[in-house]
Amino acid sequence: MINLRTLSKIVLSGILAVSLSTSYGQQATKPAEPAIDIYRETPPKINDLVHTKLDVRFDYKKCFMYGKEWVTLKPHFYPTDSLRLDAKGMDIKNVSLVKNGKNIPLKYKYEDSLSLAINLDKVYRNNESYTIYIDYTSKPNLLKAKGSAAINDAKGLYFINPDGKDKDKPTQIWTQGETESSSAWFPTIDKPEQKTTDEISMTVPAKYVTLSNGRLASQKINKDGTRTDTWKMDLPHSPYLFMMAVGDFKIYHDKWRNKPVDYYMEPKYAPYAKEIFGGTPEIIEFYSKTLGVDYPWNKYAQIVVRDYVSGAMENTTATLHGEFLNTTHRQLIDAYYDFGHQTIAHELFHQWFGDYVTAESWSNLTMNESFADFSEALWAEHKYGKDAGDAHNYEGMEEYLRDPEAASKDLVRFHYDDREDMFDNVSYQKGGCILYMLRNYLGNEAFYKGLNIYLKTNAFKNGEAQQLRLALEEASGRDLNWFFNQWYYGAGHPKLSISYKWDDASKTETVFLDQKQDGQTFKLPLAVDIYAGGKKVRHKAWMNDKMDTLTFHSDTKPDLVNVDAEKTTVVEKTDNKTLGEYAFQYFNAPLYMDRYEAIEAAQVKQSEKDAQKIMLAALKDKYYGLRMKAIRALNMKNDDIHNAALPVLTALAQSDENTLVRASALTALSKLKIQANMDMYKQALKSESYAVQGAALAGINQLDPAQALQLAKGFEKDNRGILTQSIVAVYAESGNSAEWPFVYNQFSTASTGGKFGLVRNFAKMTARVDNSADAQQGIEELKEMGIKYKTINGIGPFLTGLLNNIKEQRTTLKDDASVKAAEDALKVVSDVKETKETK
Ligand SMILES: [Zn+2]
Repeated sequence: MINLRTLSKIVLSGILAVSLSTSYGQQATKPAEPAIDIYRETPPKINDLVHTKLDVRFDYKKCFMYGKEWVTLKPHFYPTDSLRLDAKGMDIKNVSLVKNGKNIPLKYKYEDSLSLAINLDKVYRNNESYTIYIDYTSKPNLLKAKGSAAINDAKGLYFINPDGKDKDKPTQIWTQGETESSSAWFPTIDKPEQKTTDEISMTVPAKYVTLSNGRLASQKINKDGTRTDTWKMDLPHSPYLFMMAVGDFKIYHDKWRNKPVDYYMEPKYAPYAKEIFGGTPEIIEFYSKTLGVDYPWNKYAQIVVRDYVSGAMENTTATLHGEFLNTTHRQLIDAYYDFGHQTIAHELFHQWFGDYVTAESWSNLTMNESFADFSEALWAEHKYGKDAGDAHNYEGMEEYLRDPEAASKDLVRFHYDDREDMFDNVSYQKGGCILYMLRNYLGNEAFYKGLNIYLKTNAFKNGEAQQLRLALEEASGRDLNWFFNQWYYGAGHPKLSISYKWDDASKTETVFLDQKQDGQTFKLPLAVDIYAGGKKVRHKAWMNDKMDTLTFHSDTKPDLVNVDAEKTTVVEKTDNKTLGEYAFQYFNAPLYMDRYEAIEAAQVKQSEKDAQKIMLAALKDKYYGLRMKAIRALNMKNDDIHNAALPVLTALAQSDENTLVRASALTALSKLKIQANMDMYKQALKSESYAVQGAALAGINQLDPAQALQLAKGFEKDNRGILTQSIVAVYAESGNSAEWPFVYNQFSTASTGGKFGLVRNFAKMTARVDNSADAQQGIEELKEMGIKYKTINGIGPFLTGLLNNIKEQRTTLKDDASVKAAEDALKVVSDVKETKETK
């Protein structure tokens, strides 16, 4: 699964951030939560699922599903005469044993509408299987569900616009199983350690398309205008990976080798299906080759649905994506890797790490999510080069390091409050970085050989981190207990201070290493590159203690000592290099992170010559992300920087191959308010890229707000992403009630990501628009957003801040009704509790 936190990261640091200040992320603070110290044991396996057969039809009016289930099980090891199935919020009509073609009713208790305790007709041994028939109604909208950071709902089964009253939204049904919500639509043992084959027959209005796991075995037209589709999944997988989707979708048929690869899109976006998803077969091929295990399933489908509760979900053979992938050609021009493709790569890797071998419990979620997170960088590296992989990896590390609470959590976590809490920046981003680091330590070949052993050994079963350790040890011949103990079963990361001393008399370079973190001392393998006399020599060193000293001989004083030269260590560094050394590093050391570190050091000292050299060179860095980093950090108030950078920025704004770099350059130039740039902005407004157009419109707004307001009107019909943000920004500044409907519509119909991109200016306009009714409409939207997203890290205080500001301004405007609405909204949002139930 890709979670909302990751999506908001895309919003905050990705393409939408060009016109957004980054202060939002820094404001984010999360109230401290009490640590809950409950040992989460892996539930005992008493009965094992064998086969699950479902026959379902839907009541769109009531949002019910009528189900019949034949579930086959057998005792796991010990004989048993009873069975317990998870079944959430259902009406249970009949529970029987199927024997010789007859249904023999069984005694059962339905406890708290959560769990079916069934008495079997006799004691069964683990060489005997039995089949239970259950007739039931699933009522997801009546289910008491809860939210979390990863997923903001847990109904299992979702009816979208079921009565068709919303003209802008298609009618759809889809499911979301992870973590344990499949049992809201069929009784099962809803644990990742269970695996079952399945067969699902769905009876739906004949005009709709269906999708489920496995192959479409049959389609039958019924006399009542419905059709029954039967999907068969012949290989076992976990209940949380079951899926169904029903709706008006167009299917684009692609293939990998001889297996079908299908893309299900709403008709409106179907023309872009190939452009959005067309890289999928290439990724399947790459992962198959890299892992030495060919894609194990009989087909791969991806579907994009409305109102999805998370980012995307890796249901076996049938990945479901949120509507942020409903994109057009013009949006894809600005997409590059960060938007969409990383999600496609992530969910696809889960087909091996998650679906083929499944984490044995939520405590071991790392066996699913760290691998999927790692795969994003892996694909970036393969497709777009090492810089892209390193950049993606480091973004993940920053996201982990930015969250002070994350340092106290073990990667494999046996103690947690709620299983949904496992879907955090430790299981995802930190875990992904740990695998990136481990690959570097073992070398690619040993690492992938180890993954191959892990996958083959545990195929169609479950895995935990110890099994990964054993597989990697078998492949590499190296003991890895130390690594797993500190990174998988321990928390935090080293805070490493590095300082240097050269002794000319003895020709000795001394490196002082000091781990400053509280908690465990990390054992660190470190590559140290010494650049001296025009040569680079690599030394391999180990840091074994909290403080360590390394000494190196060198014939001449080194130009640079590059500690942690491979730059994959999960670490927070204080590296006491001079700017001169950083300049040498920028121009001579080979990695993305070498250049990144140099820019970081330079951007805070831009009055110094060495820093200027770095900043100006970085404007032309070979990796677009570093060009953007340099552009954004440029201090144009410094005359040297200004004079040297101005022509470079102007050239980048007009002709960089990357539209996001062009947009960044336009944005940097717009702050200078150079009247002569008006023509350049107008030229850029003709670009096919929404990002370039958006930056150009913002530039014009700086010079001539009245003209910008006029020009913005012309883009109301066709705008997305940054252009939409710019129009809303222009309107928020100088528009009024005439522009409010556009602003309101954009915001209220935006996806989660879109809303975060627009929210500042939406609030700004809400605060100053003349008409009180408009302001109240705006306040209502912000209240809804607060209720929905408050529990996600830092969003609560951020939205409260916006609402307080609106309240103040409406007070100045003497708009009592809006003041009251704002007060009410603040109260409602502050009353939203972080609903945590212990499960
Ligand atoms: Zn995932």
